[in-house]
Amino acid sequence: MKNILMIGTGGTIASEVTGEGLTPELTPEQLMEYVPGVSELCRVRCLPLFNIDSTNMTPAHWLAAARAVRDNYDSCDGFVVTHGTDTMAYTAAALSYLVQGSPKPIIFTGAQKPINFDSTDSKVNLRDAFITACADGISGVNIVFNGKVILGTRARKTRSKSFQAFSSINYPYVATLQDGYLMQYIRQEALPAPLFCDTLDANVGLVKMIPGIDFELIDFLLRRKDAVIIESFGVGGLPSYNSDQFFDIITKGIQNGKIIIMTTQVPNEGSDLAVYNVGHRLKGWRNVLEAYDMTTESVLAKIMWILGRTRDWEEISRLFYKPVANDILYRG
Ligand code: ASP
Repeated sequence: MKNILMIGTGGTIASEVTGEGLTPELTPEQLMEYVPGVSELCRVRCLPLFNIDSTNMTPAHWLAAARAVRDNYDSCDGFVVTHGTDTMAYTAAALSYLVQGSPKPIIFTGAQKPINFDSTDSKVNLRDAFITACADGISGVNIVFNGKVILGTRARKTRSKSFQAFSSINYPYVATLQDGYLMQYIRQEALPAPLFCDTLDANVGLVKMIPGIDFELIDFLLRRKDAVIIESFGVGGLPSYNSDQFFDIITKGIQNGKIIIMTTQVPNEGSDLAVYNVGHRLKGWRNVLEAYDMTTESVLAKIMWILGRTRDWEEISRLFYKPVANDILYRG
């Protein structure tokens, strides 16, 4: 029988109804009482790490989760992490960089309805997460939700209420689950042992462009942050009105050593700055990176991981475009 560590972090799955709204209160042990069949599948050890709404997750919590995996890595065969759905895709992306190439599965799950509700997705998701964590062909960080196994670097919460909460962005499902049976489509490459990392530079900002955006907003972020992600329109570009003030601000940011990452607010198919003049002008600039088909969640976690290691532009660029857990496939 496999040994699985269940790490509890909170979220709806562990929530109780209170006068002030749903609040995470159940421990991992209490969650396990709702899925008795799991004891026939594997031996479960519980680690209550936090009990918070994932709205309150910060990069410090990501590092603590990665540390929990690292500290227990040799003593178990896989991990199930219960987590709020709201920022699960960010945490799964972060863990994909903090625990790279893990041959053992690190499975995130949660739910849209608490486990003690009559109608809930919690029990199926939790059971499916354990089935996936025990499967021989599964490795690395994945989210298991509503019968889908989604790569940690490719997940996004795309529905706020219904059970089909997560989508896989620009990447196929790794596997699906039905009635307790796992059908695996993709095998992730793993290292013989994971590469653990324990530093992040969390001083990263993100701005979503709107028509008529005030260029001072980008200037403000570039003055305060080490890297700024710009969620642009379509395949990507910067406005050229206001006598090119956007380009002047980017130029100033670059001179001050800041990193700019262009991505898109369109959910699928990614960016390609080369297509339009408004984007083409930025191509090949030192300190300017392009997300291509990466999710914004992965871009954010990846640049935090990279800037936690190096400030050398050539190395930043090399690491950013080097695939980690299939986070980037298309690069122009
Ligand atoms: N607000 C909750 C959280 O992210 C939502 C959920 O878990 O579904 O913790």
